[in-house]
Amino acid sequence: MAQTATTSNRRFAAVACVIMVIVTLSIACIFYWLYETSKENILAQWRNETQQAGQKISQYLKMPIDAVSFSAVTVNAMQRDGKSHEEVGRYLVAETSIYSSIISDNTTGVYAFYMGRYLDGSGWTPPEGYKPMERPWYVDARRNRGAITLVKPYRNVQTDTMMMSVSKLLDDGESVVSMDIFLDGVQLLTENIAENPAVRAAIVVDKDGFVLAHSDKSRIGTRLNSGNETDKALKKAISASSLKRFEISPDDTRIAFGEPVIAGWHTLLVLDRHRLFRSLRTVYAASGAFLLFIMLTGLVAFLYVNRKNEHARRLEDEIRAAASIYMAMFRINLEEDAIVCVQDNPEIRKCLGEEVARYSKLAADMPDRLAAEQSRDLLGPFLDPATLDERLAGLDSITQEFMDMEERWVRVRFIVIRRSAEGRLQRVLMAFESIDEDRKRQENLRRLSETDLMTGIRNRGSGERLVRKCMAEGRKGFFCLMDADKFKSINDTFGHGVGDKVIIAIADCLKKAFRDSDIVFRLGGDEFCAYADGVDSEEIADKILQRLFNNIKAIQIPELGTRQISLSVGATFYPATRRDSFEEMYQRADTGTYTSKKTSGNVSTFVLQETETN
Ligand code: GH3
Ligand code: MG
Repeated sequence: MAQTATTSNRRFAAVACVIMVIVTLSIACIFYWLYETSKENILAQWRNETQQAGQKISQYLKMPIDAVSFSAVTVNAMQRDGKSHEEVGRYLVAETSIYSSIISDNTTGVYAFYMGRYLDGSGWTPPEGYKPMERPWYVDARRNRGAITLVKPYRNVQTDTMMMSVSKLLDDGESVVSMDIFLDGVQLLTENIAENPAVRAAIVVDKDGFVLAHSDKSRIGTRLNSGNETDKALKKAISASSLKRFEISPDDTRIAFGEPVIAGWHTLLVLDRHRLFRSLRTVYAASGAFLLFIMLTGLVAFLYVNRKNEHARRLEDEIRAAASIYMAMFRINLEEDAIVCVQDNPEIRKCLGEEVARYSKLAADMPDRLAAEQSRDLLGPFLDPATLDERLAGLDSITQEFMDMEERWVRVRFIVIRRSAEGRLQRVLMAFESIDEDRKRQENLRRLSETDLMTGIRNRGSGERLVRKCMAEGRKGFFCLMDADKFKSINDTFGHGVGDKVIIAIADCLKKAFRDSDIVFRLGGDEFCAYADGVDSEEIADKILQRLFNNIKAIQIPELGTRQISLSVGATFYPATRRDSFEEMYQRADTGTYTSKKTSGNVSTFVLQETETN
């Protein structure tokens, strides 16, 4: 049974482990899914960031483009109206002041090459030898034939900073209106984005891959390097994207977003995958490890508790197995005066009633309900909870046997379960055990050991013990010894079997002659003994003996024919002297027997005083 329990326990632990593995795998899947979703969210954020950067740059360029477009329309009209250089110059000054207030710091103002003369709205005077028609803003505008032209960045002589120009050829095909914009704002934007450690590079390029702004300042004015794998991939993506946003992974460690800006420009963001997801990985790994730790701790705690429960269950089984040998068993909490049934017995339950809860009440009721009248005085004090601790001091158990209502023997036993640290009794088991069979068996054995098997009367040991007991109790009595006359010759003449019959017949005569309460026993061979309790007169004793002799004479054993049986009896009384002993009394009777033997027939001789034997 214990082995089965261990096997089932192991099976349970195995199932728990399998469940644990399944749960762990499920959690790992959920975590992976959450991780991938979070990654996607992060990428979406950066996608958004790139779009916003693109929009900002478009916004940054839109105003100068609008300003140049508007100025070009006006100057064209002025030219058609034949306005002078001075008038156009004044117009450019007015425009510059308006745009300076709107576009603030990112422009130097509106200027133009108008009908062979350089006019500047900001009041800048070109140095000696300045040739407007050779400047990129003029050259590129002419090349673009009236379309808005974004001139590649160059170092502006006037401000000594990186600038770019927005210019437009006028309708005469020679005059150009232009405006310079500082690229600091765009550069600042790329640098701000690149402050995030996950950003490898933030770049603004035109459609040819010319770098207009770069988080690495040294790359401004260069081209996307065809020797660099990332640059190569970006360049390829720009040409393939046909002015749409794109997303590429140049290699395993990088991811890049491209957002088209105005005039074929692109904002590019190159991100470091590892750095991008590092914090995410840390968070998920830490929470995964924590969750796993919690689960493992839970599993260990669960298995530990289960093992404990298994142990408790096994103990319970063992107690039940032990309890099953008893008729009934109760667990008693003496501190709380509570009693709980461990092993039930319908008969005892019937006697005690259904409501068994307070032990003190039960202990008071139980003797009357359970025990036969003669046992109640024994059972009551034994069940008393007030003295139980004292009676069990230094012991593991105490017992009391009693007779139940049906006069069957029952043993009740208290077994100590627990004592307090101070040694006070707290819990006990009360077990009822049927000992009726044992008692009967013992009684039989005792009777057998006290009986003379041939005749069925008491044997010498038992008879002598009873006589001594009477004497010890000071009870007077008539004591006699009896010996069959010439018994050897009966054996010899009629055989041993007939001899046995004679012995049995003599025993029967003795039983009939004496009262049931008298002690009649066989000493051995053809010798018998009797003690008539309370008989102290020779007259009564003689009557008994006469009754005996009459019985002897009436013995009928066919094999004996006419052969008569007679006894020689020696008789005495107890006490003869003040300090009379069994041996002395026996001696007196034996002397009487000896005397009787001298005369044939049923003869008795009373020896009243010891002195007479001498
Ligand atoms: P006495 O008149 O002097 O008593 O002579 P007795 O022949 O009776 O001699 P005694 O009493 O000394 O002998 C008793 C005999 O009883 C001796 C023995 O052989 C015989 N005997 C003893 N036990 C048994 C028994 O259980 N069965 C039978 N059949 N004979 C027994
Ligand atoms: Mg004899």
